Amino acid sequence: MSLRIGRPKVKRGESFDLVIVGGGPAGLSAAIYASRFLLKTVVLTVDVGGQLNLTNWVEDYPGLGRIQASELVEKFRKHAESFGVNVVWGVEVKGVERVGDSTFKVTGTGGVEVYANTVLLAVGARRRKLGVPGEEELVGKGVSYCSVCDAPLFKGSKAVAVVGGGDSALEGASLLSSYVGRVYLIHRRDSFRAKPFLVADVKSRGNVEFLLNSVVTEIIGGEAVRAVKVLNKATGEEKVLDVEGVFIEIGFEPSIEFFKSIGLETDDYGYVKVDEWMRTNIPGVFAAGDAISTWRGFRQIVTAAATGAVAAYSAYQYLIEKGLYRSPDRT
Ligand code: NAP
Repeated sequence: MSLRIGRPKVKRGESFDLVIVGGGPAGLSAAIYASRFLLKTVVLTVDVGGQLNLTNWVEDYPGLGRIQASELVEKFRKHAESFGVNVVWGVEVKGVERVGDSTFKVTGTGGVEVYANTVLLAVGARRRKLGVPGEEELVGKGVSYCSVCDAPLFKGSKAVAVVGGGDSALEGASLLSSYVGRVYLIHRRDSFRAKPFLVADVKSRGNVEFLLNSVVTEIIGGEAVRAVKVLNKATGEEKVLDVEGVFIEIGFEPSIEFFKSIGLETDDYGYVKVDEWMRTNIPGVFAAGDAISTWRGFRQIVTAAATGAVAAYSAYQYLIEKGLYRSPDRT
């Protein structure tokens, strides 16, 4: 049986040297390098681009100047595909299982089942939730986890709230301030982990109000968000702000259940433990990008791409050491 998911296809039961799980910068960079080592490689991914799809402009990827994130995603994908890598999207990988001394079975949605001697996990991280009353019920009705994706939908709104103090929140507040009358930036501390230039940009906007040392305790609404309840932790004062949208931009967390289910060791925060060569505790399984414990406080496109390249090299070395490397005269 041959599955057509996304544009290229993957055959059920097909064998690869390397299966890369995840098609963000780490996974696609790994794919580019794997192809240079002549590894037969497939990328299985939910979407192409990962968290790059949640960003508008990229200004810090070396050599490219200012580039739209979607264009950078296309460059990554086309680069990998130009070297013959099969990038299969629309697939959520559900299992990675050792089925022989040196073989893994990788299964995913849509009936995907492939085999490989090495697996590289570049699955990124998922969005953190606030966990306050009203949040779950109002998702899609004014509660959003992606300012960059949803800001235009709020064009003309009187006021919205953005929660968080990292790059995503500050970038979101800046963008939203062009679409709406007023932005409340709610952050639990009085200093920001966002890059200083982003903080300066938001401060220069005339319509962003900073609520520091403050936390959201409830999101209020029925058919749509109407207001947000905010507690100032320093003064104990609680107020209700009328808003039409709440953008929760409080970072990401690892897919800890998935990692545990395949026996991967994780750090205290739930990220996959890797050594300096991106090797996990399972021989033949490598990890890269936002899923790993290394550089946890500094997640960048360039660092994801770097760890992807290193992980692909390690997979190649592993195959040589185990006598499993079949290229260039593969059969
Ligand atoms: P982040 O850097 O982890 O920041 C998350 C923010 O949310 C922090 O300010 C944190 O507060 C706050 N927070 C976390 N849990 C919270 C909770 N339960 N309630 C209230 N506040 C909470 O996440 P991010 O901003 O999404 O950025 C993720 C990575 O992507 C970073 O490496 C960032 O540099 C990168 N990024 C870069 C750009 C860019 O360069 N243009 C754009 C977007 C993202 P504390 O500060 O108190 O911990």
